[in-house]
Amino acid sequence: MDSKTSILIIYTGGTIGMVKDAKTGALHPFRFENLFKIIPSLELLDYEINSFCFDPLMDSSNMSPEFWAELASVIENNYESYDGFVVLHGSDTMAYTASALSFMLQNLNKPVILTGSQLPLGMVRTDGRENLITSIEIAAAKEDDTPLVPEVCVYFENQLFRGNRTHKFNADDFEAFRSPNYPVLADAGVYIKYNRNAIHNPNFKKLKVYKNLDPGIAILKLFPGITENTIKSILNIKGLKAIILETYGAGNAPNFDWFIKLLKNAIKKGLIIINVSQCESGSVAMGKYETSIRLKEIGVLGGFDITTEAAVAKLMYLLGNFSDKEKIIKLLTTSVVGEITTSDE
Ligand code: ASP
Repeated sequence: MDSKTSILIIYTGGTIGMVKDAKTGALHPFRFENLFKIIPSLELLDYEINSFCFDPLMDSSNMSPEFWAELASVIENNYESYDGFVVLHGSDTMAYTASALSFMLQNLNKPVILTGSQLPLGMVRTDGRENLITSIEIAAAKEDDTPLVPEVCVYFENQLFRGNRTHKFNADDFEAFRSPNYPVLADAGVYIKYNRNAIHNPNFKKLKVYKNLDPGIAILKLFPGITENTIKSILNIKGLKAIILETYGAGNAPNFDWFIKLLKNAIKKGLIIINVSQCESGSVAMGKYETSIRLKEIGVLGGFDITTEAAVAKLMYLLGNFSDKEKIIKLLTTSVVGEITTSDE
């Protein structure tokens, strides 16, 4: 007898789970057991849907590597029992969580779809209902008994993205996410149209979960006028192991002697510096301009088209799981789970 496709909804918090108090009109998280009352049409889906609810629920601005480890454990512990997972998450740090999960859940052969909303489920004009229902459909989608999307994704406002390519770009619109450097994985209209060529193929290997993340990193965003003191202070942070250097355009930075010298010394002392562009779209190409040649010469690593969100997650994952610096550098500059497109691809 065929068993029903089973989906686990994991509720972490965020706007999507809010309802209006009938008396006071204030927004508060709803009791998850009431999900089917709030969205009766869920009953029409022919799946077995269960839920796991974090307690306490959290606004995603409070997200942390410790929470990512707990979230990865929930998926790990339920991996064999479900066909797919939908994670309800605040939109503010969803791109970071999706990136982190993509590195933490390797050999993933089932869909993990993160979604949320700009307006709470308890509001009439909510975008949460469509986001949740379509995420469930995508998490359940199979062909020849094999999941169509065996990767960590973000679904928001009719589009499915590779999670580690996403970026929240709009605080108000329902269309809040973009994946500037990687094609959309699916468009949901009357039909859900999957972009098969852009989606990972399943590898049918055993899930490997990495929960050790090292937060010893910092982001250094350049701006005209940044002082020697500011850079010095950041490079001198105790315990710092790696820096994401957010540069201009195709990876350009000032070529002032004091600036290059500070970075060069920090690299000599063992700091890893990865060059990520401040631009939404396009790739770092060190050596294209005079203003990036010196970075390359002193050992700054090119981040290609990685998002800052994915660079944060990737560094935490690499520093938390590998001690060989050469290996970390090699993995940083190659695609581990589809998070970058290197120039030789
Ligand atoms: N502040 C909320 C959060 O990220 C916003 C949202 O859910 O969209 O948790």
